Amino acid sequence: MPSHTLWHPYAQMQTQPPPLDVVGGQGAFIDLAGGERLLDATCSWWCMIHGYGHPRLVSAIQQQADTLCHVMLGGMSHAPAVELAETLVRITPPGLDHVFFSDSGSVGMEVAMKMAVQYQVLRDRPEKHRMLSLMRAYHGDTSGCMAVCDPEEGMHALFAGLLPRHHFAPAPTAPFDASAEDVEADIAALRTTLEACHHEVAALLMEPLLQAAGGLNMTSPHYVRAARELCDEFDVLLIFDEVATGFGRTGKLFAAEHADVTPDIMVLSKGLTGGYLGHAATLATARVYDTFLSDDEGHAFMHGPTFMGNPLACRVALESIAVFEEEDYLGKIARLNDVLREELLTDTLRHHPAVNDVRVLGACAAIEFKDAASLAGAQAHARRQGVWLRPFGRWLYTMPAYITTPDELRRITGAMASWVHQS
Ligand SMILES: *Cc1c(COP(=O)(O)O)cnc(C)c1O
Repeated sequence: MPSHTLWHPYAQMQTQPPPLDVVGGQGAFIDLAGGERLLDATCSWWCMIHGYGHPRLVSAIQQQADTLCHVMLGGMSHAPAVELAETLVRITPPGLDHVFFSDSGSVGMEVAMKMAVQYQVLRDRPEKHRMLSLMRAYHGDTSGCMAVCDPEEGMHALFAGLLPRHHFAPAPTAPFDASAEDVEADIAALRTTLEACHHEVAALLMEPLLQAAGGLNMTSPHYVRAARELCDEFDVLLIFDEVATGFGRTGKLFAAEHADVTPDIMVLSKGLTGGYLGHAATLATARVYDTFLSDDEGHAFMHGPTFMGNPLACRVALESIAVFEEEDYLGKIARLNDVLREELLTDTLRHHPAVNDVRVLGACAAIEFKDAASLAGAQAHARRQGVWLRPFGRWLYTMPAYITTPDELRRITGAMASWVHQS
C-alpha cells in the first residue's frame, strides 16, 4: 500500500502507481529495495551530474559538517561562501562579478527578477517593472516564477488568477545549428515584441539554447547573441536562467559561452552542488551591482533567504566544481554527445511515423513524439531494461550524469529507441 502521508510532486495521488522505494545509489545507478538497480537516465531532475555516492562529494559534506553546518549570512561571512562566490566569478562568463546565494532554482530566479526591478527603480525607471519571457519557458514553480513560464502549454494555467501579467515573445524555432539567415525570423519576432513593450520591461529572461522543462526546445547561439544586442538597444536587462543548462549540459560549462555573451544576471542551481544539496546562485555584473551602492540604506537589495550561503552546500559545490575541472568533464560530455548522436540521430528514428523530431545538444537528447499518448507505457518498458526514464508531455528524453559510461548510455538510448520502434 503506497503511503498517502508523503505527498508527491506533479502526482495524482489517487491513481499514481506506487513510487519506487530507493534505498541508495552508486554512480549512475539507483538502488531499490528488493535489490533492483536502475540506470538513471535523468540524473534526478538533471542535478546529480556526478551520479550517486561520489566519494569526494560525500566526504566534502562530512568534513564541513564537523566544522560548521550552518550560520546566517546576515552580518556574517564564512570561507565556504566567499570561496564559492570567487570560484563562480572565475568560471562564469567575464563580467559576472557579484554573487547572491539562495536555496533553490526558483528562488534564484525570484532573486534575479527582484534585482532587475529594483535596478530599474534605483535608476528612476520604475515604470520598467515587468518581465519579458519566451513561450515554452520554464523558470520554476513559485508564484513569481510561474508568471514567467509559458502561460498556455506550461503547467500553471490553473493559477493564472494569482499571477502578475508579463510579456511573452514567441519561442524561437530555429535549431541549434541553424544558419544566421535561418534565425532571422526568430530574432525579428523578439524585436517586434520588444518594440511594443520595452517601456515597461525591466528584463528579458531566457533559458539560453535549451528550453528544458517546456519541451527540450533547442535554439541557436545566433538567437542568444541577438537577444543581447536587442536588450542593449532597448535598455532592458538580460537574465539567463542557466539552472538546467549550467555546468556542462549543453556541451560547454555554460550555455552563454556558445554565443560568447555575458548576461546582466545569471542564475545557477541544479548542477551547482552536483545535486548533493539544494542551493542556487544569482550572479550580476558591476553595472547591476553598482546601481545598488548608495549612502541610502533603502537602496540595499531587499532579499535574504534563511539558508543562503549554507556552508555544507557551498563546500560541496566547490568540490563538485573541482572534480568537474580536474577530471575533464567537458571531455566526458563530448563523448556522451557522440553516443547520443550516433544512437538517436538516425534516419529510422527521425522519420518514424510517431516521431516529430529528435534533438541532441551536449549531454541532452530528446525524442519529441507527435502525440503524448505514444508515451504511455514507455517508463515501464525502460524499467524492464533496467533504465529509469521519466518522460513528460510528448518528450522522451535523457539528461544522464556525466560519469555515465558510453556503454551505460547505449543502454539508455537503446531503451528509448526500442520504445519508438514498437510504437
Ligand atoms: C528546475 C528549474 C528551475 C527551478 O529550480 P528549482 O530548484 O526546482 O526551484 C528554474 N529554471 C529552470 C530552467 C529549471 O530547469
